[in-house]
Amino acid sequence: MIKFIDFQTQYRRIKENLLPQIEIFLGSGNYIMGKQVYELEEQLSKYVGRKYCLTCASGTDALLIPLMALNIGINDAVFVPSFTFFATAESVSLVGATPVFVDVEPNSFNINPAHLEYQIEQVISENKLNPKAIIPVNLFGVIADYNKIYSIAEKYNLFVIEDAAQSFGSTLENKKSCSFGNLSATSFYPAKPFGCYGEGGAVFTDDEDLYNRMYSIRVHGQGIDRYVNERIGLNARFDTFQAIVLLEKLKIFDDEFNQRRKIANKYSTSIKTLKCPVEPYNQKISWAQYSVLADSKDYREFYLNKLKEKGVPTGIYYPIPLHLQKAYEFLGYKKGDLPISEDLADRIFSLPIHPYMNDDEINYIVEILNN
Ligand SMILES: *Cc1c(COP(=O)(O)O)cnc(C)c1O
Repeated sequence: MIKFIDFQTQYRRIKENLLPQIEIFLGSGNYIMGKQVYELEEQLSKYVGRKYCLTCASGTDALLIPLMALNIGINDAVFVPSFTFFATAESVSLVGATPVFVDVEPNSFNINPAHLEYQIEQVISENKLNPKAIIPVNLFGVIADYNKIYSIAEKYNLFVIEDAAQSFGSTLENKKSCSFGNLSATSFYPAKPFGCYGEGGAVFTDDEDLYNRMYSIRVHGQGIDRYVNERIGLNARFDTFQAIVLLEKLKIFDDEFNQRRKIANKYSTSIKTLKCPVEPYNQKISWAQYSVLADSKDYREFYLNKLKEKGVPTGIYYPIPLHLQKAYEFLGYKKGDLPISEDLADRIFSLPIHPYMNDDEINYIVEILNN
């Protein structure tokens, strides 16, 4: 049976090393923020090449904590792509700020810098909200166009928060994802490229002052003393158990990353009937999803049914762009406002991809699609 993601095979691979540590952990009593959490933070900051890593309870918290640390809130505008997972915009709303939706590029699926600048100018001319930050998303693992994004960010004095929930491990000319934002957020949700066995996330930065504020926000805005609260924070602590799991998974991560790339490459060279994603020439990407485009919504339906009949699981990431979600109705966007995001939502779907797929499985899927 073909799996969309194969957690079980991966578990069998790390089980022997993992289980004795879990037993010690269960007897230790240090269930939350134990020493392995700090060890993981040290290893991850080295891995992605940043001064500070702050783990936290989810990828959503990893976006929320930077926004809180930057004091972004009511009357502030934060620019986000419309074609992404809901949490990118939700974190902005949770601090009381307003997400301003930006259309994406048809090939990379990432935020369109020209439209970003257009939306910033719109907000400035309306004179109601203060532009504060941009949250580019590295969708499906492809690193966004940070050169252009930073030239815009500098022009308008905006922070850049990299949403790297799907791109842990991706590189652009040897610079790793999670090193592109003033602050960078990733997620350890199981289905992400670097997933744990529950919820988790991390923020990266080189800024000591921001790191210290985020460190405090992670645990209810605590000061040096635990029961001295300096600011409003969260309960966003990280479980020791998840850190132990991730320390073990980090050892096999590069190998898994290369396997994913091999599978994506096989798909891209053999599928003839659909528009396949291309790895940018100067990037190595994590392939959080392998997403293809059908010619129309009806064709997508046709392919999805065909794959379902033959027992191949699929997903649609994402069927509704955020500016048309019911939750954001109050912002007044309408159909036609962000045409590329809307078109992608109608035609995109994702094929199974995980490091443990074999050639037979890939060929089976390719044949269904090519016939
Ligand atoms: C998964 C995801 C998040 C949120 O991460 P959680 O760990 O599920 O809270 C944020 N942004 C993007 C782009 C994601 O894919």
